[in-house]
Amino acid sequence: FLEASGVTMRFGDHVAVRDVTLSLARGEVVSIIGPSGAGKSTFLRCVNLLEIPEQGSLRVGDTSLTVRPGAKPREKDIQPLRRKLGMVFQNFNLFPHLTVLRNVSLAQERVLGRSRAEAEARSMSLLDRVGLAGKAGAYPGRCSGGQQQRVAIARALALDPAVMLFDEPTSALDPEVGAEVLAVMKELAGEGMTMLVVTHEMAFARDVSDRIVVMVDGAVVEAGEPRQVMSDPSHPRTRSFLSAVL
Ligand code: ATP
Ligand code: MG
Repeated sequence: FLEASGVTMRFGDHVAVRDVTLSLARGEVVSIIGPSGAGKSTFLRCVNLLEIPEQGSLRVGDTSLTVRPGAKPREKDIQPLRRKLGMVFQNFNLFPHLTVLRNVSLAQERVLGRSRAEAEARSMSLLDRVGLAGKAGAYPGRCSGGQQQRVAIARALALDPAVMLFDEPTSALDPEVGAEVLAVMKELAGEGMTMLVVTHEMAFARDVSDRIVVMVDGAVVEAGEPRQVMSDPSHPRTRSFLSAVL
């Protein structure tokens, strides 16, 4: 349902993502783990085309794009793919000058052409779902980090993505606040959302994901069923990473 193949991204001489191939079935939840600097964020940004990879192919449902070295894809080829992906960042990235409701509604109006009334109705139902209907009129500065992140999740869901991408959505949060965000993500997973999640939350990776992918030095070194990867890793770099974080 989501397919990335042969994705390579370089910053100068440094290869941040090296020929990464990864696919998710519809409804599958995959966690990407690995040490700092492994290229996890860069890979996720390539999937969403926030970074244009040097080369690689991407497909979401029936929309696909192949990037060849030296040939930058056109905006009109990027947009259809990007529209199928919802992205949640570590630092929420809400608009501080807009209320929670407008934060969730704006892109629906601009990108999907929904009327303001239609967008706001949809926003309210999503805010309700993430437990924040009471915060609709508040500005992000008046919300806790966990609330802001749940707003960011609602905002991404509002565009009806086929796949949700999360880049360490709880790493800027205190554990108990992060737990609220993880609960929302777990619920989404239970409802059948296809999710690709970069995370340091080993309990989430183990209990919620169907598969764990381990990235080290830009490459996938190991992938498999969570319990197997965590209890019996086959790659020495996975072993040293896990012994550092568990
Ligand atoms: P973390 O767990 O710390 O978030 P990560 O696995 O997400 O790490 P990336 O942020 O993808 O790692 O970075 C991979 C490598 O690419 C690192 O060596 C980083 O310094 C480099 N890098 C990332 N973004 C850029 C950039 N915009 N310009 C230059 N180098 C970059
Ligand atoms: Mg990162």
